[in-house]
Amino acid sequence: MLYNIYMIIRENVKLSELTTMRLGGPADFLIEIEDPNECAEAFEFAEEKNLPVYFLGLGANTIALDSGFPGVIIKNNIKGFKILEESSADSPKNSPRTSSKSSDKQSPSKASKYPPETLLIEVGGGEIWDDFVEFVTKKGFSGVEAMSKIPGTVAAAPVQNIGAYGQEVSQTLVSVEAFDSLLDEYVEIPASEMDFAYRHSIFNSGETAGRYFILTCTFRLEKKNPEPPFYNSLQSYLDAHKITSFTPEVIRHAVSEIRAEKLPDPAEIPSAGSFFKNIYLDKSSARLAEEKGIPVRKTEKTDKSGKSFIEYKVNTGWLLENAGLKGKLFHGFRVSDKAALILINESASSENDLELAKQEISAAVREKFGLTLEQEPVFIKPHTEETSENPETTSEKKSSEPNKISKNSSERNS
Ligand SMILES: Cc1cc2nc3c(=O)[nH]c(=O)nc-3n(C[C@H](O)[C@H](O)[C@H](O)COP(=O)(O)OP(=O)(O)OC[C@H]3O[C@@H](n4cnc5c(N)ncnc54)[C@H](O)[C@@H]3O)c2cc1C
Repeated sequence: MLYNIYMIIRENVKLSELTTMRLGGPADFLIEIEDPNECAEAFEFAEEKNLPVYFLGLGANTIALDSGFPGVIIKNNIKGFKILEESSADSPKNSPRTSSKSSDKQSPSKASKYPPETLLIEVGGGEIWDDFVEFVTKKGFSGVEAMSKIPGTVAAAPVQNIGAYGQEVSQTLVSVEAFDSLLDEYVEIPASEMDFAYRHSIFNSGETAGRYFILTCTFRLEKKNPEPPFYNSLQSYLDAHKITSFTPEVIRHAVSEIRAEKLPDPAEIPSAGSFFKNIYLDKSSARLAEEKGIPVRKTEKTDKSGKSFIEYKVNTGWLLENAGLKGKLFHGFRVSDKAALILINESASSENDLELAKQEISAAVREKFGLTLEQEPVFIKPHTEETSENPETTSEKKSSEPNKISKNSSERNS
């Protein structure tokens, strides 16, 4: 078949250059999608060649294997911010839309269920996440400012339900437009059907993992000032700088400063962000953890049915630090001395180095605290194979796992 001449197809592309951990061999093909219509063609290309497909953004949460990827990597490069509705109590203002598919988002009946001061915005999945955060916070809208400076694309944000300093993407995402590779059709998926939990969604879990290529994301944000209580480290920063008046921009600035101080810039220092997930316990495991001197953060939450419950969270960074691992080097990977959850690739060159480092770090934590660590970044593999060490996405809480991890959570500690 003839392919769109504008669709960029590259061959034999080094994945170490497309992922922030800077590991791994080449992919057979890389296709960058600039227009939603090209997506079906990209899948046809892979199908004709009988090759598996993997979706990639900026590679900030993915790690390539030494063998690379024997298939087609599809990358979302769709740009643009489209304001679907920007309304205030006294002056509703609707912008014209060009996409007929999501015209229902603009209909008065759908818009009217939202509070008056809202921004409904559709963002191209290839936009840089932080550019989107900057764009909306500058306009005074709240809902994503605490997630400033998270590296990556907008399309990848719902996949692992990114979060930081008490905010998660699931709180403001309305829907995504995606290409359903199983049914070969373009679909709109409402956030209510994404089964969001801590680092979990339909996009990275179970049979639907790798099925939907996300094209655009629509968010609903409110024009309001963020209110305390804030996440501890954020509050400490605000106190230290005597900041008592909070706007989305003020919080964005504070979060950016905190992150710049302790997190590596992926453009300069190879890492995949937090290498291990935080740990969520049930009540009795939390009590046992506290008896061992492990701090457990308790937060009152509400589940999907509206029932309130207490979430028990152990900060994995604390475990690594108190197991004496902070700053230590394992097979070319350094446990960051500023944020222990981050593994920095100083000189490692193979997945074997990573595996050994992971095993030694996990063993040290298990020995000291009796808790099992889970890897957060996923491996670039065909979706029929397991792509991470995540029991939530692979074997739904293995009974032998000592950590009884709750799927309900909303915070991240980096
Ligand atoms: C220094 C650093 C700090 C970080 N801090 C945080 C943090 O505070 N909070 C947090 O939550 N994360 C954090 N991360 C992780 C990372 O930034 C996020 O997971 C981010 O969403 C990754 O975006 P990406 O575009 O790089 O995705 P990639 O790594 O390229 O992909 C991630 C996943 O999304 C899938 N995917 C990518 N594009 C699409 C698409 N178009 N359709 C469907 N699936 C797709 C991939 O297949 C993969 O499963 C950090 C990472 C680094 C390196």
